[in-house]
Amino acid sequence: MGDRLGPYRAKRDFDATPEPAPAEAAGEDGARYVVQEHHARALHWDLRLEHEGTLASWAVPKGIPPDPARNHLAVRTEDHPLEYLEFHGDIPAGEYGAGTMRIWDRGTFELHKWRADEVMVTFHGERLQGKYVLFRTDGKNWMIHRMDPPQDADREPMPTRLEPMLARAGDLPREDGGWAYEVKWDGIRAIGYVEGGRLKLLSRNSNDITPRYPELRELGRALGAREAVLDGEVVAFGPDGKPSFQILQSRMHVVSDAAQRRFAASHPVAYVIFDLLFLDGHSLMGLPYDERRAALAELGLNGSNWQTPAHRTGDGAALLEATRAQGLEGVIAKRLDGTYAPGRRSQGWIKVKNIRRVEVVIGGWLGGEGGRAGRLGALVVGYHDEDGSLRYAGRVGTGFDDRELTRLGRLLAARARDTSPFAGRQPPKLTHFVEPDLVASVDFTQWTSARTLRQPSYKGLRDDVAAEDVRGEES
Ligand code: MN
Repeated sequence: MGDRLGPYRAKRDFDATPEPAPAEAAGEDGARYVVQEHHARALHWDLRLEHEGTLASWAVPKGIPPDPARNHLAVRTEDHPLEYLEFHGDIPAGEYGAGTMRIWDRGTFELHKWRADEVMVTFHGERLQGKYVLFRTDGKNWMIHRMDPPQDADREPMPTRLEPMLARAGDLPREDGGWAYEVKWDGIRAIGYVEGGRLKLLSRNSNDITPRYPELRELGRALGAREAVLDGEVVAFGPDGKPSFQILQSRMHVVSDAAQRRFAASHPVAYVIFDLLFLDGHSLMGLPYDERRAALAELGLNGSNWQTPAHRTGDGAALLEATRAQGLEGVIAKRLDGTYAPGRRSQGWIKVKNIRRVEVVIGGWLGGEGGRAGRLGALVVGYHDEDGSLRYAGRVGTGFDDRELTRLGRLLAARARDTSPFAGRQPPKLTHFVEPDLVASVDFTQWTSARTLRQPSYKGLRDDVAAEDVRGEES
């Protein structure tokens, strides 16, 4: 017995760690197990099965699979003493497996098969019920597979790609009852998919933007073994404490991991979560808004880089006035009884804005005058109409700093073309035309009667919106 626990003992200093030292005599033979959620450097779950007087152990990075459709990796680790069945607590920094360990499940199991490369059991635990097999694939690497149907018979697979529900632009609802109000954050819309303690963040056009925001990774851990699909906005805050789309924009174009980590430290973002679309095998999208929000609130997702700000029921005018006073973008009104309609611009969500903003396609540019002679003076922009033609929507000559002018100049030069991409009304004669695949955000005051932008100001390029989807809808 002492030999089997040799590796366990060798890795630990029992004067420093609160983990149990192996007792001299092994306990009685039985069939107990424990699953510990171990918040070590990488979150994982430790499955330990009582066998021949010790605990045979596997580290399962994504947790025990609830569904036979998906096997999870399980890495065989050293046998642990039986006393470990009860262990939970903090393993000090610097010790082996440093981090918090808590008991996720425990109970007994029936043993069906125990071979050197295959173990088959049925768990009777507080959480787990059902038959599982562990089988070795390569060296220390095993897989764990659920053999029974899912414990929850109504369980649905977690969606992997949901398009966010969109709001239409408008005024505050006249009848205040029946509506909730949220602050509209000036950021990047993102759907967060969490399972096995890992977060994946997809932008509106389903680009994986997870690597861009390393500071949000810990949100996965905060949800532990739960499966969830979250809807929210990635927001960067400026030195004045207000959302800064410019800072966010600078992060969008960072390529290297090292640079992302530097930015994450100097200009961290927050994920502002405002909806819960799926939880633990069940879609919530058919539930009314207030029930989804209640389920979201129960998750308690408020961390260093993620928040679930409360919504307000009724009196949208007061919230809109507060956002105006604080220089924020506006509010979103949401019907309390409204379901979630992915990918749809719904009547049930209305954005009411202090500042108007629209996405436009860059179809050309005009040279500057004075200090900007020979360089970019104004962007020539448009949007697509119903039949997909690009319509001229005016020129944007302010809102650039020097660096952005240089960057845009380079991007536009690479896209030069001889013919106009615009259908119908044409921009000024001296326009240099470009391939219309760059999308920019622009603030403006009003649409003119000819549907061009009055007093537009450049806010930044977007890579989360495809040019062909730009329809002149305000964001
Ligand atoms: Mn562990």
